Amino acid sequence: MTAQPNPEAGAAVKAADRAHVFHSWSAQELIDPLAVAGAEGAYFWDYEGRRYLDFTSGLVFTNVGYQHPKVVAAIQEQAGRMTTFAPAFAVEARSEAARLIAERTPGDLDKVFFTNGGADAVEHAVRMARLHTGRPKVLSAYRSYHGGTQQAVNLTGDPRRWASDSGTAGVVHFWAPFLYRSRFYAQTEEQECARALEHLETTIAFEGPSTIAAIILETIPGTAGIMPPPPGYLAGVRELCDTYGIVFVLDEVMAGFGRTGTWFAADLYDVVPDLMTFAKGVNSGYVPLGGVAISGAIAETFAKRPYPGGLTYSGHPLACAAAVATINAMAEEGIVENAARIGASVVGPALHELAQRHPSVGEVRGVGMFWALELVRNRETREPLVPYNATGEAGAPMAAFAAAAKADGLWPFVNMNRTHVVPACNVSEAELKEGLAALDSALSAADEFVDRP
Ligand code: PLP
Repeated sequence: MTAQPNPEAGAAVKAADRAHVFHSWSAQELIDPLAVAGAEGAYFWDYEGRRYLDFTSGLVFTNVGYQHPKVVAAIQEQAGRMTTFAPAFAVEARSEAARLIAERTPGDLDKVFFTNGGADAVEHAVRMARLHTGRPKVLSAYRSYHGGTQQAVNLTGDPRRWASDSGTAGVVHFWAPFLYRSRFYAQTEEQECARALEHLETTIAFEGPSTIAAIILETIPGTAGIMPPPPGYLAGVRELCDTYGIVFVLDEVMAGFGRTGTWFAADLYDVVPDLMTFAKGVNSGYVPLGGVAISGAIAETFAKRPYPGGLTYSGHPLACAAAVATINAMAEEGIVENAARIGASVVGPALHELAQRHPSVGEVRGVGMFWALELVRNRETREPLVPYNATGEAGAPMAAFAAAAKADGLWPFVNMNRTHVVPACNVSEAELKEGLAALDSALSAADEFVDRP
């Protein structure tokens, strides 16, 4: 499952990249992107012949793994028949993708507006909510990620928004539940749930309910640390939205399409939003695609009145054909069930066992194929292993962890002081065990930085 090593070809790819590609979220001269020669299933490999088990699924999107033969074939078939067509027409791949998505989304989210990815799905969800309610503000959580475009990055609850946040985007941030870092206010999940709901209702009261169009939440915040909310929280937010006439938007761009061992994370909590954004797993990112699933009431707002928004490539036939093949493959091959089963029987128990032996592990959180390890210097104080936004020397502990993992053939997901375990949802038990063994030795490298008594 690897090509012949070809370091010269790799060097040429790398040289052109370094000369001309401007990379996301990066100081261009401080990065060193790996030249990738190929990928299949849960693995990818470089031009030197080194193979890595991908515990990141790209950016948490290859839910069916790389080069799934049914999805590749569907893209090829669609390209041969109708590579592209403008969005104003009814096109088979687009209609079928919308039907399959609507069949799986909760409640009456039965209409689908297609976008090119997650951030523009969020942009459109917010626009729909504002037009539906006639209100200006949106509430979103700290410790969240909603995308890199102007509105989406303003909604994002991490330092990435600082550079573009002029304070006029109509966004107000609040603190959603996170017991591990909320312990001075709550000792149990029940108390944390109550704290977070009371805080949200107070925020609504002080902002003015009649000014708030939407509350947007990731069902399970992903990039910010995979933090499953306590039981009752999302139902409580639903109730607040109903009480105050606020549109409830769940962002399932990362958590959707099997990642949590259910089609959508919302299924785990039995909650139905008014709008739901998706991308990534909808077609495993083989061709860019995202969208908004829309409730009957919001669709009705735009039944006779035009929706003022659109994209040239909305519902691109290649992307939609990939979505149809992905969703069908997930259903035929039991990929969602696989994520649920081995998440509960292999990953969860293994990570909790690692936490017993490695003092750098402060907390284990997750479900399905969606797990995080919170790495700390000190389990008592919960001081993160690296400071927020650590650069250079300050980031050394996580760099040492990542280097040790890669030396053992594991490509880890590293974000601030966390590593996330988010492999393809159809990863096998044997592959997982190989990755977890490499994670074990990488954590030993992290343990070196733990405070010694
Ligand atoms: N929303 C969530 C929850 C995400 O995790 C992401 C990306 O990671 C986005 C939105 C943005 O998606 P994209 O990068 O496709 O624009």
